[in-house]
Amino acid sequence: MSEILKELSKYAAKMVDTNLVVGAGGNLSVRDDTYMYISPSGYDLKEITEEDWVKVKLETGEVMSELKPSSELEMHLECFRRSPGIKAVLHAHPTYSIAVSSAGQEIQPMFPDYPAMVKKVSYIDYVIPTNHLIAEAVGEVVAESQAVVMRNHGVLTVGATMKEAFFYMQLTEEAAKVYAISSMVGKPNILSEEECDDLRNLSAETYRSSLLKKQKL
Ligand code: 13P
Ligand code: ZN
Repeated sequence: MSEILKELSKYAAKMVDTNLVVGAGGNLSVRDDTYMYISPSGYDLKEITEEDWVKVKLETGEVMSELKPSSELEMHLECFRRSPGIKAVLHAHPTYSIAVSSAGQEIQPMFPDYPAMVKKVSYIDYVIPTNHLIAEAVGEVVAESQAVVMRNHGVLTVGATMKEAFFYMQLTEEAAKVYAISSMVGKPNILSEEECDDLRNLSAETYRSSLLKKQKL
């Protein structure tokens, strides 16, 4: 058990170290059989120790720990309930993804890893965070998406492992950054739908994506 919690703390720290969140922003969780572990509310993600992770019963939402769970608990529960294949959920506030999507744009594919790995990105308009509205909006699209971009708020990614969800988060933010910078200096050359499909069908990419599902977490 403590191995899962140690890994969770590692990924929480990586979110801070790679600038995917600032302050007490963001939250993450993993499925553990009929339970989930989620970050406590209001914490700097880098400061969460193994003892701090909040255990929650998936079916009822009953909180089994002392600390208050993330205020986005409902959103995380919704993800796990919508798809049995979702084992890890990550929510961050990455600068470029918020900037691009809140300008009414979609995050365009401009380099191979993004469309090859993050096959479906969904967009939802702003709703007030931390209640059933955001949980429902995310729940409607999450089963068919690797990433859900929430305009004027942030990004949520899901995966069969935490590593997969983390890669999806990094790639989505990198794609937004490349697109934003490219738009500043000229006219971005966006990969076509056909070029994206060709990338997804490459055996090299299938192999690289499959590695992410074989992690312990
Ligand atoms: P919590 O600290 O309650 O997890 O909230 C952070 C957040 O990102 C809300 O959307
Ligand atoms: Zn948030």
